[in-house]
Formats: sequence, structure tokens, C-alpha cells
Amino acid sequence: MTDFFTPGSGAMSASHVNLIAEAAEKLGQPRVSFEFFPPKTEALEMQLWGAIRKLEQLAPSFVSVTYGAGGSTRDRTHRTVARIVKETTMKPAAHLTCVGASRAEVDDVLRDYWTAGVRHVVALRGDPAGGAGAMFDPHASGYSSAAELVAGAKRIADFEISVAVHPEKHPASPSWEIEIGNFKRKLDAGATRGISQFFFDADTFLRFRDRLAHEGVSAPIVPGIMPVTNFRGVRKMAVASGASVPAWLARLFDGIDDDPDTRRLVAAAATAELCARLSTEGVEDFHFYTLNRADLTLAICRIIGVRASKEGQL
Ligand code: FAD
Repeated sequence: MTDFFTPGSGAMSASHVNLIAEAAEKLGQPRVSFEFFPPKTEALEMQLWGAIRKLEQLAPSFVSVTYGAGGSTRDRTHRTVARIVKETTMKPAAHLTCVGASRAEVDDVLRDYWTAGVRHVVALRGDPAGGAGAMFDPHASGYSSAAELVAGAKRIADFEISVAVHPEKHPASPSWEIEIGNFKRKLDAGATRGISQFFFDADTFLRFRDRLAHEGVSAPIVPGIMPVTNFRGVRKMAVASGASVPAWLARLFDGIDDDPDTRRLVAAAATAELCARLSTEGVEDFHFYTLNRADLTLAICRIIGVRASKEGQL
């Protein structure tokens, strides 16, 4: 029987930076990708582009740009991905959701992306106004699930398509059978990889990977890594998305709400440890939720062995 619920402990403890660095040396450079959100103001745009320029030097596999609830960032998402195409060496992946738009409107967005040179989309259902756990009420003439959106995008053009996967089950999913069946439908419709919702315990992701393997799903799944700096904010997001927050993480951040510098150092250590553990378990791709900042992601990438494409650039 498969070692289904007990992922291996790894050949070594991942709790020492020297061991992590040695493992990185042996395992080779992991591949990384970065998620950004479209900025609302000029100041935030400058912050984003500062981060993009720094992270570009790590030669990510792709960088993705989120799409706000109900299409609220439609134009800003488009502007950001179009600028990435024009001004950087990186391949952008534009997020797109089904919320509050007809199929024709969503198809127009897809055509605009293709025309702007975008060849990769992250196809998502999106959340209803009441949050991920609320009943999803599709637009009368809209796509009603990510699987339908994937099929729609493939009809428009030969996009590379990534989709969301939920290592702790989507909050609205009644069972693992439905959850995994849904991922299979997205793959059958033309998606090539799953990017995971964030999680904090390596075992959560590893158990999910084992479940998929057990069900014969071999498509790549990339862990979504959230370096936590604002613990209160992340706890809220976790409740909304169904991610559990372990007690040890709450303890790590207890009492440092007003101390952002310490929070960042703690975040770097905890996230590097998570990535290192995944890396020793054979995970070779990491997707970072950067929150439009480069420093933490850069530090963590360095610890897990990702180097600038030209040494000395950073
Ligand atoms: P789907 O795959 O359509 O499914 C959601 C759940 O519904 C499934 O897990 C399944 O259990 C259930 N389901 C689907 N079809 C059926 C069926 N036929 N029968 C029974 N149950 C079914 N949101 C945004 O608004 N903008 C973003 O840019 C964005 N980016 C994201 C990026 C990543 C990597 C992730 C993980 C999430 C992102 N989200 C984003 C959040 C996402 O929109 C929510 O998690 C949403 O609630 C589910 O989206 P999905 O694409 O997984 O939906």
C-alpha cells in the first residue's frame, strides 16, 4: 500500500541552513515563479516595478498577475501583463476569473491578452461576494467553473493554462473525490499544471501530492508559498480560503504585531524552512505570493539555492 498519509521525513532535517544549502547544491536549482497584484496607485506601481526588476534576475519560469474580484482590476491586470511582455525578459501569466461577466466578455479579455502577446493564463472561478465558502452564483450567460473557463480559453487560442488546486480541499468542496475530480476536469479541458493555495505545513502539500498520485493524477502541482509578514492579515485570508493556520505559526508571531522588522525576519526563517523541507521531498518548482515585494522572496530563494542568472547582479 502507498505511504499515503505519511510523507517521508526527508533524508535530513531541514532545520539548519547549512544542510538546506547542501541539499540545494545536490538537488540543483529549483525553478521559481512569482505572483504579483496589479497596483492601484502610482506609488504602488513603482514598488511593484522595483520588485519585478529585482526578481527578474532570478530568471523565473513565469510571473503571474492577479485579477480582482468581479473583474475589478481588468484594465490594471491587462496593463501590467502587457508591460511585462514589452519591458522584461519574463513570461507573464494573466489570471482570469468567471465572476460577474458573460462568456463573451471573458472571451474578449482572453483575445486582448493573446493580442498583447500573453500566452499563459491562470484560469480561475473566482470567489462569490460572500467569500470562497459561499454558494457560487454564476453570471446568467457566464462560465460557471474554472474547468469551463479552461475549455473556453483553449477555444480562443492555444494558451498555456494553469489552474488553482487546494491542498486542504476547497471550502465549498463536499469531498476529496469531488475536489480531485474537479482538478482532473480542468486538466482534461486543457490545463497543464496546478498552482496551490497557500499552506503552512509541508505535510499538507505532501499529503495532497500523495493523494493525487494515488488517484493517478500526474500533472505537475506547484506549491503556492506565502511568506507571512502580516500575521493578522494572513489569518483572515486563511479563514476565507480554507487554509489552516497551525498553532506553532500563531506562537511565532505572538506579541510582535507592532514590530515589522522582527516579523520579516521570522517570516524569512519560517518560509525558508518550509521550502527547504519541500525541496528535500523532491519539490522542484515554487510559486511565491510576493505581495509585490522582492526582499523576502529573494532571501528565501537564495536559501533554497536559486541564484541570479548572472552572478553578482543582486
Ligand atoms: P473551481 O476549480 O471552479 O472549483 C471550486 C470548487 O468548486 C472546487 O474545488 C470543487 O470542489 C467545486 N466544484 C467545481 N465544479 C464542481 C462540480 N461540477 N460539482 C461539485 N463541485 C464542484 N481569485 C481571484 O478572484 N483572482 C485571482 O487572481 C485569484 N488567483 C488565484 C491563484 C491561485 C494560485 C489560487 C489557488 C487561487 C486564486 N484565486 C483568485 C482564488 C480562487 O478564485 C478561489 O479559490 C475560488 O473559490 C475557487 O477557484 P477555482 O479556480 O479553484 O474554482
